[in-house]
Amino acid sequence: MSTTMPHTAPETAADTAPNFWLQDIPKQLAALDAGLLRRKRRTVAPLHGAHISVDGQTMLQFCSNDYLGLATHPELVAAACTGAQDFGVGSGGSPMVSGHSTANEELEQDLARFVQLPRALYFYAGFATNASIIPALVGEGDALFSDALNHASLIDGCRLSRAQIHRFAHGDLAALEALLAASSAQRKLVVSDAVFSMDGNVADIPGLLALCERYDALLLLDDAHGFGVLGPEGRGCLAAAGLTGANASPRVLYMATLSKAAGASGAFVAGHDLLIEWLLQKTRSYIFATAAPALLARALQASVRLMEHEPVLRERLQARIAQLRAGLEPLLARTSWRLLPSHTAIQALVIGSNDAALALMEGLRQRGLWVPAIRPPTVPKGTARLRIALSAAHTQEDVAQLLAALSELADLTELTEPAAAALET
Ligand code: PMP
Repeated sequence: MSTTMPHTAPETAADTAPNFWLQDIPKQLAALDAGLLRRKRRTVAPLHGAHISVDGQTMLQFCSNDYLGLATHPELVAAACTGAQDFGVGSGGSPMVSGHSTANEELEQDLARFVQLPRALYFYAGFATNASIIPALVGEGDALFSDALNHASLIDGCRLSRAQIHRFAHGDLAALEALLAASSAQRKLVVSDAVFSMDGNVADIPGLLALCERYDALLLLDDAHGFGVLGPEGRGCLAAAGLTGANASPRVLYMATLSKAAGASGAFVAGHDLLIEWLLQKTRSYIFATAAPALLARALQASVRLMEHEPVLRERLQARIAQLRAGLEPLLARTSWRLLPSHTAIQALVIGSNDAALALMEGLRQRGLWVPAIRPPTVPKGTARLRIALSAAHTQEDVAQLLAALSELADLTELTEPAAAALET
């Protein structure tokens, strides 16, 4: 015997949608589409050097944070394979239980020695590190001082902490000082990117530290984009400022991701032994998350070795930075484009309006070049830009190809005029 369900025709999609979100999301997505703000993923695979396959199409990319070209380096690959053979693939648990392998322990020691700070703690991811070390350091009744251009992970960490957040204008030490002077909080934490991820400029670290000393604050620096790139042997922003080793300050916590110049993933925090011990005891993403697998630690030990002993990687990167900046000069003279000051791997070419930046990205894409356009709200309104990420994996010919394509596109007035208009308003 067959039974048929009584069935009535559904009235409208809205009547049958199961909840508020499923009714609301299509409208929100349409608004993102209208504002050219919808984010899209692409499927990529490495080919050779900076050449990758993007959705099946061969492209020359200027969008990776693999600043030293280590992500595909044979020594890292071999170290990861041996690590997998020796330790397996997963770490099996939190570092507080069963996940802290001898490889992870050795990596922490290598990292501390490399950045010339007393002790380091290795985390499985950079975002989670920032989002959870800040709440481990400050809470209700404490005060946070955060640069307006800080990375989203630092912003989330500040919010999660429930401390009072004082945001200061980007790099404005006078504004920071006024806020510190006015604060009566007992615990004060100043938080800053060391290299700002969308502009490529470096924070005034001695200036920040001097204020922290004057107002008895702690300084947390996120050197995601400087570790491996800045300072002698790529030891990072603190070493570049001469603030490591015998000159290390006990009031600085140095955080860096291992997902960029180090070519893998994860992060570490380094500093005074007591501060690191406190983070080990109190950081929720450390205690309640599975430790990074040992195979990654082995690959990262190889990264540290290469950073230290292969100066040619940084020299190649510096040569590409100089080549790009010099090559862009004539273009800047005949367009409204602006190249932000930066001696790091991140070179921001500010175009202005969203559509002009997207048109330029599309023009480059049609020429086989993949350079991402970064738009508000990631960057301030009217400053949509190409974020050109350079790497030791780029050859001189690669950069020359990008410059030639940009030069050709700069001559197309439809690309330069909207940008000029956007910058005037
Ligand atoms: N800090 C900064 C400044 C970053 O740019 C990023 C990632 N782009 C992170 C933290 C997060 O690091 P991860 O991607 O390694 O989780």
